[in-house]
Amino acid sequence: MQPILEVKNLACGYQNQPVFTAVDLKLYPGQLSGLVGPSGCGKSTFIKAILGLVHPWAGEIWFRGRRLKPGVAPPKVGYVPQVETVDWTFPVTALEVVMMGRYQKQKMFPWASLSDRLAAQELLERVGVANVAHKPIGDLSGGQQQRVFIARALVGEPEIVLLDEPTSSSDLHVQHELLHLLANLNQQGLTILLSTHDLNSVATHLPWVICFNHGLISQGQPIDIFTPANLEKTFGGEMVVFQQEDRILIASGGTSLRHQMQDNLPQILKQANSNHKIQN
Ligand code: ADP
Ligand code: MG
Repeated sequence: MQPILEVKNLACGYQNQPVFTAVDLKLYPGQLSGLVGPSGCGKSTFIKAILGLVHPWAGEIWFRGRRLKPGVAPPKVGYVPQVETVDWTFPVTALEVVMMGRYQKQKMFPWASLSDRLAAQELLERVGVANVAHKPIGDLSGGQQQRVFIARALVGEPEIVLLDEPTSSSDLHVQHELLHLLANLNQQGLTILLSTHDLNSVATHLPWVICFNHGLISQGQPIDIFTPANLEKTFGGEMVVFQQEDRILIASGGTSLRHQMQDNLPQILKQANSNHKIQN
C-alpha cells in the first residue's frame, strides 16, 4: 500500500540548534497513531514541519506519492494545534471558529454564506458539540474547545488530521471521550496522527505508537513497543512496565515503586482500564 504521508531523512532545528535529524516515517491510509515522547523532544516541531509551518533543515515530505515543496502544507490535511497556544479570550463563537477554517480555504472572510454556516454546524454535530455552537469559545470546557478545533480541522474534508497533544489539558474521562471520538473518525476513514507525552491514559490506548525523542526510536503496537528498553530511550530514567493480557501500565521509578505497584496491581489495573481500550 502506498503511504498517505512519507517523511524521508527529515531534520529540523532552531537557531543552529538541532531538534531532530534523520527521521524516516511512513503513515498509511486509515492509520490511527500516536507520536509519543517527553516534553521538548520535538513532537510539535515534527508536526509543524509536516504542515509546512517549520522549514526543515534537510529531508523530504511526500503526500500520496508526490513530493511537497518545502514550506508547503500537504493538500487535504487538517491540524489541531496544542490548546495552550490558542488565545481563548478572542471574541468568537464555536461556530465562527469552525467557519474560520472554511474561510481560510475559500479566502472570503468574513462573509459567511448559509451553506458555510450549515456545513460548520454539521461538523460541530459530527464531533458532538452542536449544542454550544453559539457560545463564545472562551466559555467552553477544555474538552469542548478541543472538539470545536477538531471540527475546524475537518473543514475541507481532509484525508489526514494531525493533532498536537489533544488530550493534554483535560481530565481522564474527557481524554477517553476524545480518544473515542478520534477512533470513530478513524473508523469513518480518516488517517490520524496525534502527539502525546502521556503514556498511560493516552498512548497505551492507541492502536499504533511512534516513540520519538529528538528522532524516531521505534514504532508498532503499544504492547510490542512499550518495553522498558524503548521507554528508557524515549523518556529516560528507569521505566516499569506491567502487562496483563492486552493491558499495559507504565510507571517511572526504581524497585521500591515496582514492589509497591505489584502489591496493588490488580486494583491499579482495574482503575487504569476502567475505560475500554479503543479499537482501530
Ligand atoms: P515537544 O512538542 O515534544 O514538547 P517542541 O517541538 O515544542 O517539543 O520543542 C523541541 C525543542 O525545540 C525544545 O527544546 C524547544 O524549546 C525548542 N523550540 C520549539 N519551538 C522553538 C522556537 N520557535 N524557537 C526556538 N526553539 C524552539
Ligand atoms: Mg509540543
